Amino acid sequence: MKQDVYQIEEIAPRTWRIDECGRDNCYLLCGDQRALLIDCSIGTGDLMGVVRALTDLPLTVAVTHAHGDHAGGGYQFGTIYVPRAETDRSWRGPNMRVFRKQLLSNRMKKSGITKKNVRGNNLKTNWLPFDDGAVFELGGRTVRTAAVPAHTIGGTVFFDEANRLCFLGDTVCPVLPMHTYRALPLQSFSDRSDRLTELLDGYTLFCGHGDGRVTHELVQKQIAWVREILAQYPANANKHGKKYYPAFDPDGCVGYDPANLYPAAKQKGWTIASWNSILHG
Ligand SMILES: [Zn+2]
Repeated sequence: MKQDVYQIEEIAPRTWRIDECGRDNCYLLCGDQRALLIDCSIGTGDLMGVVRALTDLPLTVAVTHAHGDHAGGGYQFGTIYVPRAETDRSWRGPNMRVFRKQLLSNRMKKSGITKKNVRGNNLKTNWLPFDDGAVFELGGRTVRTAAVPAHTIGGTVFFDEANRLCFLGDTVCPVLPMHTYRALPLQSFSDRSDRLTELLDGYTLFCGHGDGRVTHELVQKQIAWVREILAQYPANANKHGKKYYPAFDPDGCVGYDPANLYPAAKQKGWTIASWNSILHG
């Protein structure tokens, strides 16, 4: 059975959102000389073919962070750029096939996407590091990065400054994903909220999940909600869990783990269950 895994939406001139069956988004940006693919999905379909149908320019692939639903498709490209803090071996795990299989959403399964669609050996993919402030020159179009460690330690936001487009990855999503595998303590988001507000000012925002849209109003609401959560808890709870504030709402809420609010001497281990998060919906 043939599945149409990827849906394509032109979101700006020479800029496309590539949606992996409602599960996650990648973004393709073309300049005069190069193309940049920001994130590369779980890789359940022929993402390279989709990109090649849109452009034949030399391609650079860079990911906002190394979760399997953003870097997993890297095996199709041979070499991808990954935030330096997430290039170590421990981040290869979530990109192995056995774990990427856990990421299939219900909607994907209903569309006929099965574990057999999850292919590729990411251990053979070359992960090159990039740092805060890295610049990708596309020819007449420049994309600059800024590290915002919160959702993950290397979480990075990409800025197309001339066109005022911002690609957030999972740094901000409608359900703020601070309850997922290897998320930093919730306080990290709060600590970086002023910088985030400043960085995002004047940009149109696109994120790694849903229809990709994030409003500035939502960002400010989430910053306020995170502060309210922290004000309610004087310390980390003993037990891991997934909670939502003010309540679960796919259009806007904060996902958090009461045991991962503040930096702790020793982070408790993560389970498959904690990784296999709400973002699958
Ligand atoms: Zn993520």
